[in-house]
Amino acid sequence: MDLSTLTAWLREYARLIDENAQHLTDLDAAIGDADHGINMQRGMSAVVTQIDEAPPADMAGLCKQVGMTLVKSVGGASGPLYGTFFLRMAPALGTDDTVSASDFAKALRAGVDGVVQRGRAEANDKTMFDALAPALDALDAALEGDTDLPGALAAAATAAEKGRDATESMIARKGRASYLGQRSVGHIDPGATSAAMLIAAAATAAGSTS
Ligand code: ADP
Ligand code: MG
Repeated sequence: MDLSTLTAWLREYARLIDENAQHLTDLDAAIGDADHGINMQRGMSAVVTQIDEAPPADMAGLCKQVGMTLVKSVGGASGPLYGTFFLRMAPALGTDDTVSASDFAKALRAGVDGVVQRGRAEANDKTMFDALAPALDALDAALEGDTDLPGALAAAATAAEKGRDATESMIARKGRASYLGQRSVGHIDPGATSAAMLIAAAATAAGSTS
């Protein structure tokens, strides 16, 4: 993993968010306040503008900039959560030109740990964590089995999509959707959906630059 692949990941994520903004907002309309798509679109378009105008010199700097931009611009619960994810990834990536697949996996893990510390989500609470956690477990398992990073991220993306789909039958216990209690059942969580896109974008970026 290097700066150009990391940049490609963020651009691809912004593209997926843009393409699916209405879908994310529709999901949020069912169990929240119908703004997740627009929130993430605002945040990721600000991220891309910053990459274009002031590209940071290393991976840690890029993640820090992304994190701060998301915290500032997204609004809603997801802004500080995604922001924390990237802010926590930053120190784990350091200033070397490249990091190994396992160090990249550790940085992603640090990011998800930050999301948990910030939002206190547990498994099956029907949040982004339910897509991120299985993705990281699949990533670690694939890397331990000597799969290369693109292949391992592809496995992680598949696991994230399964985790996303599994939120449909869950009762929301965190965030706005938790106000609905039992009525949140039968809807896929919008944050788990955008989180699955985050991992899919990483797989695409790693696959096309390796
Ligand atoms: P808001 O709920 O403030 O309108 P968004 O609509 O942008 O913010 O984001 C909602 C998503 O944020 C949810 O679908 C869920 O995945 C995620 N989320 C909310 N609260 C938490 C939390 N405490 N921990 C993890 N994720 C959360
Ligand atoms: Mg919302």
